[in-house]
Amino acid sequence: MKEFLETLYQALAESTDDFIYMNDCQTGVFQYPGALTKLFALPKESRNAPLSDWKKIVHPDDWERFYHSHMEIMQDLREELLVEFRAKNRKGEYVWLKSRGKVLRDRDGNQMLFTGTISLMGRQSKVDPLTQLFNHAEFYMKLKQDLQSEKMTRMAVLMVDVDEFRQINEMYGRAFGDGVLKELGQLLQSVLPKHASLFRLEKDRMGILMADAGRADARIFYSQFQEYLAKINPWKQYCLDIELSAGCAVYPADGSCAEELYRYTDCALQTAKEQGKNRLVFFTEDIFRKKERSLQLLRELKECVKQQYKGFYLHYQPQICPKTGELKGAEALMRWKSREGVISPAKFIPVMEEHGLIYEAGLWLFRMAVRDGKEWIKIKPDFTVSVNVSVLQFSEELFLKDLYQIIEEENFPCENLIIELTESLAFKQVEVFQKKFQDMKKRNIRIALDDFGTGYCSLSVLKNMPVDIVKIDKSFVKDIRHNQFDVALIGLVTEICHAASIGVCLEGVEEEEEYECIKEIPLDFIQGYYFGKPMGKNAISRNLRKKVRGGVKSQTAKILNAA
Ligand code: C2E
Ligand code: CA
Ligand code: CA
Repeated sequence: MKEFLETLYQALAESTDDFIYMNDCQTGVFQYPGALTKLFALPKESRNAPLSDWKKIVHPDDWERFYHSHMEIMQDLREELLVEFRAKNRKGEYVWLKSRGKVLRDRDGNQMLFTGTISLMGRQSKVDPLTQLFNHAEFYMKLKQDLQSEKMTRMAVLMVDVDEFRQINEMYGRAFGDGVLKELGQLLQSVLPKHASLFRLEKDRMGILMADAGRADARIFYSQFQEYLAKINPWKQYCLDIELSAGCAVYPADGSCAEELYRYTDCALQTAKEQGKNRLVFFTEDIFRKKERSLQLLRELKECVKQQYKGFYLHYQPQICPKTGELKGAEALMRWKSREGVISPAKFIPVMEEHGLIYEAGLWLFRMAVRDGKEWIKIKPDFTVSVNVSVLQFSEELFLKDLYQIIEEENFPCENLIIELTESLAFKQVEVFQKKFQDMKKRNIRIALDDFGTGYCSLSVLKNMPVDIVKIDKSFVKDIRHNQFDVALIGLVTEICHAASIGVCLEGVEEEEEYECIKEIPLDFIQGYYFGKPMGKNAISRNLRKKVRGGVKSQTAKILNAA
């Protein structure tokens, strides 16, 4: 009989995805299949003390449940076992397991065999296989159940989302991104308040249900986690600070049904993203109304894109050489006239990025800009056209192929083209882009580093990156009349860039007084309202035809007008 059982056990253990275990109640021997002991630090065979082996790997929060359910079998109080718990695998990660077991008795009714299966819940639909957190469906179900419970008098619903996660994936690879989520899940889990549970909702978004909690508790939890994350920063070696945005709606103040609370929390989270990320935003009526409006905007935006960019057009902002006062080039800026009037690109471009509209729109703008540019080159052969390209566009695999195709079709000289890339996360992982940069360099397309001074790595970035032009951000000009430090800084950046043969453009000079502060600095270009606001194509052509001579004079501003 024993031998038969042994053979049966082996045969079964090898024929299923689940782990089959067997306990001989008379000898007290527990047997686990090799596949299970390979994953978890358990012996293949354990005599009399199986619970002490499990104690070392079961999650402390789940231990009590695990222990009691097994003790009830051992004390012959129960016939069947069913328990879900987390256990630490050999890699040190907690994964969800489900154990089902049954007692078999001999003819006299004595416990003979206790046998069952352990399955990885990640293989089932309840648990997200990557993070081992309960999934979206479970979040929604628990939210619903909690709200129905009479004991629930208040609750905070939170959603947290990793900032710039898409870029992290693109820059560091998917596997790295997955690792970040896994680690974050474990970190959040480790500091979760009592009566709170964590879920993975989708992509880089996690949900937290905090029972018996209000806004103040949510705020404390969020800021404590922010501090904790900044302190231990597990991704320091990658030069990466992971930040989280969060949205929160509370029961009963904001809503009383699951559907409402879910939508409002999501709405608050989106607002946190729009307000600059790395923050927690609580739901308010006002937020909801704004959201409704922006949804309407999105619908209209999509409609216009579909209708061959109806309502879209370009403005060009002049770039002046301060030494000669000449109009050297222009930056193409996207404009969109919606039903509500002209919307700022700072507002609609992020929406286009988020909804995958920016890539095609960027190519459309590029084609328009080089078409216009060709006319200006006829008047001034070294005139440059600058086009903004976001990291999302640049990291598309086909980006260069599409860019070159348009250049060829429109017959535009590469020497007259400048691609502006924003200083951002992208430049931390320069190697990824290095090939594209070199390819562009071979064709004499210049690269400008936009918004310099607002990003992460600033000067250190220039060491490894083949940029041709640095555009100092307009924030440096803002207080220049009262702030000698900013003047010195602009001077210093210019000096360093020139030593490395990098050109410098200063953005945002609005007033004559501001120009006076920096006129001694040997900048290569200036771009600002003082010299000209963004204007239509024909205004650039007209200004180009008027030859500006004799250095920058205060009249320059008047010369480069949009009329
Ligand atoms: P940016 O690339 O830094 O463009 C310069 C922005 O600064 C423009 O705003 C311009 O109008 C503004 N500006 C220029 N001089 C001054 C000044 O003296 N004072 C002040 N206060 N502002 C000045 P705009 O046109 O609203 O564009 C905002 C941003 O939208 C751009 O910032 C750029 O990041 C993005 N953008 C615009 N067009 C495109 C596009 O075609 N593609 C992509 N990817 N992004 C674009
Ligand atoms: Ca720009
Ligand atoms: Ca800029």
